Order: sequence, then structure tokens, then C-alpha cells
Amino acid sequence: MTTIKKLLVANRGEIALRVMRTCREMGIKTVAIYSEADRNALHVRYADEAVCVGPAASAESYLKGDVIIDVCKRLGVDAIHPGYGFLSENARFSQMVKDAGLIFVGPSPESIEVMGSKLAAKAAVATYNIPMVPGTPSAIADREEAKVISAKIGYPVLIKASAGGGGKGMRVVENEAEFDEQMDRAVSEALSAFGDGSVFIEKYVTSPRHIEIQILGDQHGNIIHLFERECSVQRRHQKVVEEAPSAILTPEIRAEMGRCAVDVARACGYYGAGTVEFIVDDQLNFYFLEMNTRLQVEHPVTEQITGIDLVKQMIYIAEGKPLTIQQDDLQIKGHAVEVRVYAEDPANNFLPDVGTLETYVRPQGNGVRVDDGFEQGMEIPIYYDPMIAKLITYGADREEAIQKMIRAIDEYQITGLQTTLPFCRFVMEHDAFRSANFDTRFVSLYFSPDVLKPVVDQDEEELAAVLGAFLLDTQKPAQEATATTTQPRSRWKEKRLS
Ligand code: ADP
Repeated sequence: MTTIKKLLVANRGEIALRVMRTCREMGIKTVAIYSEADRNALHVRYADEAVCVGPAASAESYLKGDVIIDVCKRLGVDAIHPGYGFLSENARFSQMVKDAGLIFVGPSPESIEVMGSKLAAKAAVATYNIPMVPGTPSAIADREEAKVISAKIGYPVLIKASAGGGGKGMRVVENEAEFDEQMDRAVSEALSAFGDGSVFIEKYVTSPRHIEIQILGDQHGNIIHLFERECSVQRRHQKVVEEAPSAILTPEIRAEMGRCAVDVARACGYYGAGTVEFIVDDQLNFYFLEMNTRLQVEHPVTEQITGIDLVKQMIYIAEGKPLTIQQDDLQIKGHAVEVRVYAEDPANNFLPDVGTLETYVRPQGNGVRVDDGFEQGMEIPIYYDPMIAKLITYGADREEAIQKMIRAIDEYQITGLQTTLPFCRFVMEHDAFRSANFDTRFVSLYFSPDVLKPVVDQDEEELAAVLGAFLLDTQKPAQEATATTTQPRSRWKEKRLS
């Protein structure tokens, strides 16, 4: 067992700050790295020491593993926390960290390697009793054979990149006629995104819900799960709203999914914090999708309902300490919801809208948590993911957490750029979300930019005409004018977002 005294966060933005806050609570000194574009970033100011590692492009700064390791040696750092994204799931980097005699706050390079490939992950868990989506067990070598298998499974099927992530290289095939076209697209997308064109086929689960289990494992073989998060509200297979617990799981299914997640972790000798993702159909059958070998963006909702600081546990595990929490100690308390606030314009196909945060006032109050990395006046750089913040609310039950979220969204003041907040409010108010009767198709089924526009109906247009006439005719006695405007006003319809 070692004690970490100085930790470098190989990341930026909200996650760098989030990790450093826990370090400060634990008496661990922090080192930030930053690119030239992040010179004035909050994570740089928060750290005890900060080092510029290169130009704005992440390939020349945040992804420069060797430069980061050199910084650690120079500054006497003993551990690296990779956050999410960047080098967090790079087995080679974690091996380099280990070889340099430093601690990688995360799993072993071997676990990252196995789980980094969806096909290798499936193979690794094959001897455990884990439900899998029907499909091809290995990469497709022969298209004609793949078509035969798809016909047997039954369309629609999904073509997926084995090295996939972030929803890339994934194509739904509705029928055999479009098989070749979608296959070509999936392969070329996988090649350009991951440099690996191997793809496989899964049955497309209809009415799919994305439910994932948080796990923690120590270096002594103890593994526990911290229940589930539901991340079914997605845009292009990317999560936008998350909650814990899921509104639809029964205690029995939860326990069974928890058991499977722990077994998946066991199958790859896992230690650290990790997430086992499942897809759940409308009959509540669940199937293993993949394991993410890092801290997830949506981890705060689990922290809120369990009271456990996941970063603190990751650090203890990296120090070689055995877990002090046992499965039976854990229980779900209350409900938490998270929305991702992006500098994107939901009224304009979610195009990035980076710029300056002219006004930036966070919501506050009981049960409201904002994980962000910006202050008023700062610019959202164009070089990185345009997430401004994660807004998390916590309540005694789901309804309370949602009510708090609507209140918090209304209080969040951001000007200077468009954000996804109006879209998030739309989700919170929607009947399908409120009644928990939704799946990953929520956005495509219910959202169009029009729902964010104020309702302008004929009555309003009539009223505008009458008011215009009134303003032009200000010579007339006031009483007459009032009489003219009263009648249409009584028919003024309330503006609604949904
Ligand atoms: P990535 O690693 O690219 O995020 P995942 O395997 O985690 O890919 O899947 C991302 C999302 O794609 C899931 O949350 C779900 O919405 C959808 N998805 C994945 N597999 C299936 C499937 N077999 N059937 C239906 N939807 C799926």
C-alpha cells in the first residue's frame, strides 16, 4: 500500500476540477496540465501547480502521454488521474504510467485492453452467465454469411464497430436490401474514427433503454456494485439526460443486473471504478453491451443516491487499500437527475454555438449541484467538447428531483451563446419522460426545434394587429382604446413549451 501525496489530473474542464476538489479534501496536492487555449481555465487556477503541455489541439497537448509523464517526474508527482475521454481508456498510456513507476488511478492496462474491444469483452465474459444480444460472435469476414445470420436473427439489426465509442460506426439495418450500403458506411466510419474497420452484428433491440451499473473493485478481488443509472434519453446514441435509480427496474432485476455487472468486472480482473452497460427491452430483458473502464460523465447521480464519493474510492483503490464498503452496506436513497448543458443550439440541429459566456449565473439551493469549469466572461474553446456544465438535482423521489431540475434550469442564466437548457427543460416536462414511459428513441420521436418556439396562433396575430392599430391611433380617447383590446386579450392562449 502506498499513499498518494501529489496527483496530476490528465484532463481539463469540469472533470479536472471535480477530481481536484476531492484531492484537496484528502490532503493530496494537485497538478493541472493545460493547453495554450486553456491558459486561464478554472482547473489551472484551482491546482497547486500547473504546467502548459502544448498547443490547443488535444493531439498536441492533452493526448501527449510522454510529455505528461515527464511533467510528473519533474514535479515529483506520484499518481495520474485521467478523468474521462482523452487518455482515460488508453491501455498503452496506463502501461507507460506504470512503467514510469507512477500510479494510474484506474484499472490495469490488461483490463482496459480487453474491454476496449466490444468483441474481446464479449469473449471474456462468455463463460459467465451474462445475457448477450443475439448476433455474430466475431468480426464479420464474409458479408454473405453475415446476411444469412442477420436473416436468422431477424431485421432490424445493428452493425457495430468493435473498437466503437461515442455512438460512432453504428448503423441500423432495416432489411436485407440496405445491408450492403449500411455495411460500407459502418466500416468506413469505424476506419476513420478508430483506425480499425472490424464490425459485428447485433439484433436491434426494439424500444431499447440504456441502463448501466456502476461498479467498484479493489486490488484484492473485492467487487461491489452501486446500482444503476438510466441514460435512455440520447441524441445520436449519445447520452443527454441521466438519472439514478431507473424508474422501471424492480429490486429483483436490479439485483440480477448488479450480479452480472460484478461478474463482468471479475471476468477481466477489474479494479477501480467502472461501468457495465446494458440494453433493456420492453419486457425488461437485459443484455450486456460493453464495459467502460473509467469514471463516467454521469457519475454524480450515483454519488447523490449512495452518498459515496467515487473519486475518493478510486484513489483509495489505486493506493492498494481494500474496499471498506460492503454490498450490504449500500442502499439507494432518493433520486437524482443530471442534464448535460452544451454550448449547442437545439433550435438549429444542435450545432455547436461556442463563444463567450456573457452572463453566467449558476442555479443554487437545496439539492442542486453544478459541475462545471467556467466563469462569467470566459470563452468556450472551439477545440474541445462543447459541454459547459452538468446540472444535477437530488430529491426524495423522482418527481421532486425533476421539479428541482425545472426550477434550476429556469434559474440558470446563460447569455452570449445558445445552450441545450431549453431542450433539457422540454424533456423534464414531457409526459413520456414524466411517466417513465420512454426509450432511446425519445428525441427522434418527440423533439423538433418547433417545440422550443413560442406558440404563435391566430388569436395572437389578431391581437398584434389590434395593438398595432391602437398604437397608431393614440389620439383616440383612452377608454375607447381599452375597450378595443380587452376582447382579444381574453382569448390569449398561454405559451407552452410542450
Ligand atoms: P458506444 O460505445 O459507441 O457508446 P454502445 O454499445 O455503448 O456504443 O451503444 C450506444 C447506444 O446505442 C446505446 O446506449 C443504445 O442506445 C444503442 N444501442 C447499442 N446496441 C444496441 C442494440 N443492440 N439495440 C438497440 N440499440 C442499441
